[in-house]
Amino acid sequence: MPARLTMAQTAVLDRFLRYVRYDTQSDERSHSSPSTERQLVLLRDLATELRSIGLADVSLDDHGYVMATVPPTTKKSGVPAIGFIAHVDTSPEMSGANVRPIVHRQYDGRDLMLPDDPASVLRPAEDPALAAALGEDIVTASGATLLGGDDKAGVAEIVTAAEHLLGHPGIAHGAIRVAFTPDEEIGRGADRFDVERFGARCAYTLDGGGRGEIESESFSADAVTVTFHGFNVHPGYARGRMVNAIKVAADFIAAFPPDRLSPETTDAREGFVHPYVVDAAVDRTAVTVLLRDFETAGLREKQRFVESAARHALSRHAGARVDIHVEESYRNMREVIDRHPEVVAHAHEAIRRAGLEVRPRSIRGGTDGSRLSFMGLPTPNLFAGEHNFHSRLEWVSATEMQQAVDVIVHLARVWEESVSSPGP
Ligand SMILES: [Zn+2]
Repeated sequence: MPARLTMAQTAVLDRFLRYVRYDTQSDERSHSSPSTERQLVLLRDLATELRSIGLADVSLDDHGYVMATVPPTTKKSGVPAIGFIAHVDTSPEMSGANVRPIVHRQYDGRDLMLPDDPASVLRPAEDPALAAALGEDIVTASGATLLGGDDKAGVAEIVTAAEHLLGHPGIAHGAIRVAFTPDEEIGRGADRFDVERFGARCAYTLDGGGRGEIESESFSADAVTVTFHGFNVHPGYARGRMVNAIKVAADFIAAFPPDRLSPETTDAREGFVHPYVVDAAVDRTAVTVLLRDFETAGLREKQRFVESAARHALSRHAGARVDIHVEESYRNMREVIDRHPEVVAHAHEAIRRAGLEVRPRSIRGGTDGSRLSFMGLPTPNLFAGEHNFHSRLEWVSATEMQQAVDVIVHLARVWEESVSSPGP
């Protein structure tokens, strides 16, 4: 297939360069859906583009969700519809306005200084993925903004794969559903996703890192609010009466170990407890603590740690009280995906057929896919070639984006081949 690779590689890169020029930053302070009007500009144009390349049932709903179908070509009956999903918004943590993408053709391995901010330098010595991209066409931003590879790489890959399937009706596949969503970066991408209307057996988000990666598990997460109640009186008349909830909370936080159990001291499959917001007054101080673990049992263990730290703090302050409120945030999507092993097995096969090594990863966070999985749509995450998410130093490789396109096309085939029954 090398001849088409070059052409397709141009297609995915050209699309990507077009999409990153749209400012699609989401905004967690907004209560509208989508959170920002500007995301709709790209979503509308994507709906138009999907129609123009021949997808069927193209729709854009009031909340900005674009859905469309590559109609089936298979002669078999019973081939399930599968879906591919990417988000159009970029992170609120870094400007996404006036992105100036720079293509570094046939990257030669040198340090890349970004022109709009000389302090922003990409160094292959510090970035093994960049070092491995020698000879590939690399895209960076200019130093003033993020690039938006997260997740416009995924968008460009899905559109390009759909175009490829439509242009090659000889490739047998079932119905391929496509969705582009707003507000993933502020955790609301799944909120208004109509799983029933999408109508797929499973889906894959294209929103991951380097080639070959597949993520089929995420953290399980709870948020614990620990509220200490003290007693406030005028400090001039407080002797023997005042109970300072701020000091109780300080003792509570001091019980967290400095060398383990925290985001800054763990990685890979270790979980953590993370105090991250304190609302403090003498009368009442509330500490919100995030609990993260890949196992539900580990989450319970972390909850017990928080409870015992709170009790310990109380024991040192007569007259103080505490309320502990645990709220479920999200659960490891593996709990759902394990019940549908073919979803991951077929992805592994597609990655191998694209000539890549399969690299399973665990997401130290949640994704829209973890929410969608629990909404009835098993949705692991596939690599899209995104590097240095949410940063001025974000970059993508055109080769890697093309490999993601190949994986999508192979997945469509593999799902079709997995059904043995001949058609009527
Ligand atoms: Zn993303």
